[in-house]
Amino acid sequence: MKFGGTSVADAERLKGAARRIVAQKEAGNRVVAVLSARGDTTDELLAMAEEVSPAPDPRELDMLLSTGERISCALCAMAINDLGHRAISFTGSQAGIVTDTSHTKARILDVRAERIAAALDEGAIVLVAGFQGVSTSRDVTTLGRGGSDTTAVALAAAVGADVCEIYTDVAGVFTADPRIVPDARKLAVVSFEEMLEMAASGAKVLQLRSVEYARNHGVRIHCRSSFDGGPGTFVVGAEETMEQPLITAVTHSTEEARITLLGVPDSPGIAGRIFGALAEANCNVDMIIQNEPLSDGRQADLSFTVPREDARGAQAALAPLVGELGIGSVATDESMGKVSIVGAGMRSHPGVAAKVFQTLGAEGINIEMISTSPIKISCVISGEHVPRAVTALHAAFELGTGAIAAEQPFGDAAA
Ligand code: ADP
Ligand code: ASP
Ligand code: MG
Repeated sequence: MKFGGTSVADAERLKGAARRIVAQKEAGNRVVAVLSARGDTTDELLAMAEEVSPAPDPRELDMLLSTGERISCALCAMAINDLGHRAISFTGSQAGIVTDTSHTKARILDVRAERIAAALDEGAIVLVAGFQGVSTSRDVTTLGRGGSDTTAVALAAAVGADVCEIYTDVAGVFTADPRIVPDARKLAVVSFEEMLEMAASGAKVLQLRSVEYARNHGVRIHCRSSFDGGPGTFVVGAEETMEQPLITAVTHSTEEARITLLGVPDSPGIAGRIFGALAEANCNVDMIIQNEPLSDGRQADLSFTVPREDARGAQAALAPLVGELGIGSVATDESMGKVSIVGAGMRSHPGVAAKVFQTLGAEGINIEMISTSPIKISCVISGEHVPRAVTALHAAFELGTGAIAAEQPFGDAAA
């Protein structure tokens, strides 16, 4: 069971999470629960760091950020103990989560769950601080924003859990962010491949790595509300999805930065140097566009996008190359957004891209970059247009509650 930040934001909600955990235990289950930092704690810790340092040392940042989750776990253990059950809280390190050394976005390498297993054997409820681990060089690391989801999935895999329940502040995975599109529809099931594309293109309800990890290790994810007992959304293998609608969801991000290199010498090996430096700096490059150099010229223009949080690192990584490779100039626009449509059914249907472009065109929204996969079409647009673009695409592809018959409970429908 994993509880997100809103689900443990204040004392009442934290006690609510404690009661849910205890209810599972009383139903005869062995329970490991992963908690996120309360409310906006992680943002507040980041702001604190920036107050004392414009570019905080990543190792120290992880020491700081990892505290938010520890607070939640210790408090929840206290609440559970008062309900007459025994709970023990662990940091990521105590829980045996071993990561690589890339501070602030570490990857889980191994989960040594012996201590969790021993506590479960003794009948305790185990609480684990999400979003963190210990690196192979024995430093505290964090797993990137939203990383408690990945902690939960990794632990579920390590202890062989029947299900990984992700309790959050919405009823499940929707056809679009319900905060932007009020008539977005909750999905009963979504396939791993679609959920991967959705998470990668901004649907932050599940962290991308948690979905990758679940698919690779065969973990069953059940995403549901921490505020009511609704049926939520199951993330399942393609063989379990009953139908493949043309379009499953519209996703968005308002946290994109575009970096443009003007006057890049057109010779072999240059792109390898540029993107090699970005990879070395751990920058997640998303879309890339290179304009063909004019036949008589020898220079190209190269644009790519990165998450806004990587923009500073990308600029620093490129700075030494500008002089060395003879690049004309580097410009960064941090106000970009991205809107995407995801659907396994588009694979076999022509005309989806045209409809996306026409819809955005009719809204007067300029498309700056485009990328596609077999089941996704993404457009980079100005960040301010994102809510309007999401709403228009959601309507154009008839994804709303009005457009489709009411959902059947997943279990019944499968039977
Ligand atoms: P938690 O703190 O529980 O981890 P997050 O804020 O990380 O929660 O993720 C839940 C949020 O994801 C929701 O409040 C919602 O605004 C947002 N979201 C974006 N896209 C979707 C989507 N397609 N379905 C559900 N929620 C979405
Ligand atoms: N507290 C971390 C964050 O805000 C991790 C998480 O909530 O999953 O990103
Ligand atoms: Mg989250």
